[in-house]
Amino acid sequence: MPVTGLPPYDEGNIFARILRGEIPCRKVFENEHALAFHDINPQAPIHVLVIPKAPFVSAADFHAGADDATIAGFWRAVGQVARDLGLEPKGYRLLANMGHDGGQEVPHFHVHLFGGRPIGRMVPGA
Ligand code: 5GP
Repeated sequence: MPVTGLPPYDEGNIFARILRGEIPCRKVFENEHALAFHDINPQAPIHVLVIPKAPFVSAADFHAGADDATIAGFWRAVGQVARDLGLEPKGYRLLANMGHDGGQEVPHFHVHLFGGRPIGRMVPGA
């Protein structure tokens, strides 16, 4: 059972459909734990999404409910994607939106990886 206060996992969400191969994506990395692909509406020259293959809605949900190998595999994949995209030397931003206030559009836990230019202020209007 999810331990999040967010809605339960929806198997019909767009990232679940990408994971099942029902919708195409521009893949940059895949292993048993994670899939990374270009965002369909990029907000920076490089905008890649890294998603765990396991079905969780939020960070709280994922880190409480996934096993250690899944959690480690996901975060290792995030690091590998950043390296593979050549982002380490100049830097980049990782961001994860959660729920309504976080502006989460797709209810499958994921991180955004932004790079290719200075990304600017952390929170707009702050
Ligand atoms: P969220 O607001 O949930 O953190 O971000 C979801 C992201 O998924 C958005 O940046 C949006 O552009 C991206 N997205 C939504 N649908 C698709 C899709 O079908 N394919 C890809 N590649 N990205 C998508």
